[in-house]
Amino acid sequence: MGELSELFAPETVAVVGATEREGSVGRAIMDNLVADFDGTVVPVNPNYDEVLGIPCVSDIGAADADLAVVVVPPKIAVEAVRQAGESGVRNVVVITAGFGETGSEGAARERELREVAEQYDLNLVGPNSLGIMSTGVDMNATFGPENAQPGGMSFMSQSGAFITAVLDWANDQDIGFRDVVSLGNKAVLDEADFVREWGDDPETDVVIGYLEGIEEGREFIDAAREVTQDTPIVLVKSGRTDAGAQAASSHTGTIAGSDEAYETGLEQAGVIRAESVQELFDSAQMLGSQPLPEQDDVAIITNAGGPGVMATDAVGDSGLSMASFSDETLDTFSENLPAEGNIYNPVDVVGDAGNDRFRNALEIALDDENVGCAVVLSAPTAVLDYAQLARDTVELSEEFDKPVAACFMGGQRVEPAAEVLKDAGIPNYFDPARAVDSLDALSEYADISAREYDEPTEFDVDREAAHEILSAVKGRGDNRLGVEAMDLLDAYGIPTPHGEIVDSATDAEAIAADIEGDVVMKIVSPDILHKSDIGGVKVGVSDDDVYDAYEDLITRARNYQPDAEIIGVQVQEMVDLDSGVETIVGMNRDPQFGPLLLFGLGGIFVEILEDTTFRVAPVAESEAKEMTEEIDSAPLLRGARGRDPADVPAVVETIQRLSQLVTDFPAILELDINPLVATPDGVQAVDVRLTVDPDQL
Ligand code: ADP
Ligand code: MG
Repeated sequence: MGELSELFAPETVAVVGATEREGSVGRAIMDNLVADFDGTVVPVNPNYDEVLGIPCVSDIGAADADLAVVVVPPKIAVEAVRQAGESGVRNVVVITAGFGETGSEGAARERELREVAEQYDLNLVGPNSLGIMSTGVDMNATFGPENAQPGGMSFMSQSGAFITAVLDWANDQDIGFRDVVSLGNKAVLDEADFVREWGDDPETDVVIGYLEGIEEGREFIDAAREVTQDTPIVLVKSGRTDAGAQAASSHTGTIAGSDEAYETGLEQAGVIRAESVQELFDSAQMLGSQPLPEQDDVAIITNAGGPGVMATDAVGDSGLSMASFSDETLDTFSENLPAEGNIYNPVDVVGDAGNDRFRNALEIALDDENVGCAVVLSAPTAVLDYAQLARDTVELSEEFDKPVAACFMGGQRVEPAAEVLKDAGIPNYFDPARAVDSLDALSEYADISAREYDEPTEFDVDREAAHEILSAVKGRGDNRLGVEAMDLLDAYGIPTPHGEIVDSATDAEAIAADIEGDVVMKIVSPDILHKSDIGGVKVGVSDDDVYDAYEDLITRARNYQPDAEIIGVQVQEMVDLDSGVETIVGMNRDPQFGPLLLFGLGGIFVEILEDTTFRVAPVAESEAKEMTEEIDSAPLLRGARGRDPADVPAVVETIQRLSQLVTDFPAILELDINPLVATPDGVQAVDVRLTVDPDQL
């Protein structure tokens, strides 16, 4: 049992602010608790002797409760929580609204609440919460209209309204829950805490949630990674589009992170992300009831040609593949199916199939070791007993221990069959695509639970030198650094070509003379971010031209912006671009997930090509390697069209070293190495640009 087990299984619940006043939240919570709760309910209110016939105590200290539900007005709510803490209550649900979601006064109140919670080490849900439920003790400590039915899903939601809507619907569908939490403003307990708790709870089969934002992205990833080794997590996150994100931030005072960070972060966490509420429950039901497939090859058995094609299309759109049957299976099908049927996948048993033929076909398919899971897809006919087909499906799926999704199409005719399927935990859908998608989620989870996470490599780096280089922004009006911070990369072991910054044409000549062959010259100015855009990069300058090139670069910078601060000109060794690929490695700090690493095809067209991939740092070697494999241009790195392959391990190492740098220095807000030229002999960081927050150094 986890640390929050008492929160979900208290013996005595005190309702602070309990009242009989019709239509009030305090009354609704009392009604809900009194109706079902296995334990004792104690109303706390100095103004009453009793509430709903239960003797009322005037202060929480007299309640001897292990959970306090606080519904008093905002002005006295923090004090009520303090008294609860003082009297030894460790678990508190703050229903009261008027905190961080309402403006600066509320935000200050929320800070106070957090301090009190810290002082007394409280497990505090909310504020601005609908409450919590736990079917283990039949506790409905919410002001919603309905209690949950018992089941194996534990459900957290950032929207209380969503909980009431879901419960109304779920009760109709006989979908049950273990614990339900309305997260509210998440002043203390957040999604990571509940994920951890439910991961430790043997009665929770699946964790599901609706989130608008994630508080501590990295903490959530670490918690979820552990939990998803044996308990699946499925989440819908709203605020996917920009318009949605704005709505989310004004909703619960959450600053929603960019969708990229979420997409990546949730994927790294091993969370299955649902696109809709329907998908959330489809996946969760499948995950809660069916065994995991050993492979992702699906067999479709149907008596209806058209829907069979629909299901096949859905498999094409999913991560699953159509199973190809063994020769033996094909022979057996030929012997058992009429000539007008189809023995290849999707298997068509033909519309006149009775129960025996259907059952036979399913048995033959499940018996094939090339089949990981199956969809039983049927339309009602006069010769088919749906309930019997359901019983056969249940029997065979259990016999072969392979997951099966049912798609018994129809309305009233399906009902007796649906009952049989539901009792056996086989999800049944009208739409073939939903059946396929939920099997897809199951197979995704099979991969997730088999994942092994390795630790990020710790490279030997010069942290102090890096700190000093970053501190250069302190005295400056500007917090951006360019190639003048190239040494930062050296300090973290990222290879850079030889180069120096000079402030006179004659110094430029001297440096160029020391460098073998032609050089590259670049304007160095915090006011010129994209040097090429103003002609501020000269590639392949011969020694004779260095003087003029210097003068020209300065003139261009002056013409572009007369008052630009010009640090000088960088004279840099040439990197062989012909044998290399220009890549980009970068980082952007997300408000919730922290450092978001980017890798992609680089150079001056990076924004146009947008061939990039992301990971939340710090990354392990395996993750850095994945990044180099998953961009569309990955074949370029592997050596396309007779070119020698680039040194990909050096790219992988650079990603990891950058990951370490941005993890070590939260002061780095964003950073681009573009290009990082990857050649067959290694990598060279040719250009760097970053933004630093001096206050965090
Ligand atoms: P910016 O991104 O500000 O325009 P860069 O330093 O990235 O400036 O240079 C722009 C382009 O010039 C690079 O993408 C690369 O193609 C080329 N380039 C820059 N430095 C070198 C170098 N040392 N050797 C070869 N090519 C270079
Ligand atoms: Mg560049």
